[in-house]
Order: sequence, then structure tokens, then C-alpha cells
Amino acid sequence: MFTLLPLFLQSALAFEVRTDDLGQTVQWRRHTIRYRFNPEGDHGLSSAAVETLISAATREWTNPVSGNLAFSNEGPTEIRTARHDDNANVIYFEDEWKEDPSLLAVTYLWSTTDGELIGFDMALNAERHQWSIDGSPEANDLLNTLSHEFGHALGVEHSPVVERATMYPSSPVGEIQKRDLHGDDIDAVVHLYANGSDAGSQASAGCSTNSSSPRSALGWLCIPLLAFLRRTDTA
Ligand SMILES: [Zn+2]
Repeated sequence: MFTLLPLFLQSALAFEVRTDDLGQTVQWRRHTIRYRFNPEGDHGLSSAAVETLISAATREWTNPVSGNLAFSNEGPTEIRTARHDDNANVIYFEDEWKEDPSLLAVTYLWSTTDGELIGFDMALNAERHQWSIDGSPEANDLLNTLSHEFGHALGVEHSPVVERATMYPSSPVGEIQKRDLHGDDIDAVVHLYANGSDAGSQASAGCSTNSSSPRSALGWLCIPLLAFLRRTDTA
């Protein structure tokens, strides 16, 4: 006796989305997500080059749901901390890394109690890791990591099954295959955002806690996303 197994199911259901402590899927409801980049830090890259790559990483995720979602660069900032009350979604290099040293980056997310994402910050580990923009085999490719982290910024979790996916949780030094989204990653962003959002219903921008929205009275669910790319060679 034997049983036929539906082997295709695993690959069809690989991506995962972030949920909060209440089990709700978290996602942005505004159309345009604003961010700022802090060019400081011991990363050795030109800020113009980094900003170009940030923009490229955001487009990887917004192109599949064109019209429903956009990122907007609001210019440089001096902020280098992950906070939800500074009214800015900031991408920065951290020279004094306090998280697990093997992590390349961490993306922090904040949502309201009804599952709306209202802020993110993205810290890149400049203390423990070398970065490159040209696919050098000796360093970590910045776009490779940015593409992964922006998936987290949109509420996409790690895809533990599909090794070629951008959201696969590990990344060896010099890897560039996560720069471009895999079909599994596209399925995730389409799942979350293809049907549009409540864009326009939210008047406030950024992630201010001074919002007069009734939701702010319910408190803030802070979600430090365990967003990471773990080195596979040494700690
Ligand atoms: Zn991750």
C-alpha cells in the first residue's frame, strides 16, 4: 500500500508573511512609504551609490504590484537609531553593532494593534562586515542584502524552503542572487499588496506617535523583526 503525496504543495506555499502577537498579518496601508538614508558610517561606499542601490531594492518589490505601492526617498538624515517615535523610516550603517555579530542587517518594524505597519528602520552592520557594490567575492553585496531587508520592511518573512529566494534566511559572502526577486518573493508581495491598500485613508506620514488617529490610543505593537542574513562561513 502506498499513498500519493502532493509534492507540489511545498514549493507553491514557500513564502511566509509577518504576523503580530495577535496573529494578524501586518502590512502597510498607505500607498507611499517614505524613507531617509544616513550616509555616515564606516562602510567605505559613496552615499550616491548606496542611495541608487536602495532605490533599486525598493523597485524590485514595488514593480510586481505597480500602482499599489511606492517608496519615496525624503533625503538624508542624521538619525542612526531604531526608534518608532522619530517620525522617520531610516536606513543606516551601524558602527557599534549591538545585535548578534553574525547578522549582516536588521530591519525593525512597528505596527498598530490592528495590523497596520507604520514604521521601519533598517540597520546595516558596518562593524563586523565588509560591504561592496560590485559583486566582489570578498565582501557582502549591498544590493543583495538591501533587497532582502526591504522584503522584511514590507512584512515578508523568511522563505526557509526556496534557496534561491531573496527571502531565504542565509547568504554567503559575495552572493548576488538575492538582488533580483525570485518567483517565490513576487508571490509574497503580490499576496500582500496586489489588491491595493487603504491608501489615502491615512493622513499621517512616517511613524509619528503624535498621530491623532484613534488607533494610537490602543498603544503600539513594536515588532523588532528578526531580519537577518547570516554568514555561512564564520561567525
Ligand atoms: Zn532576513
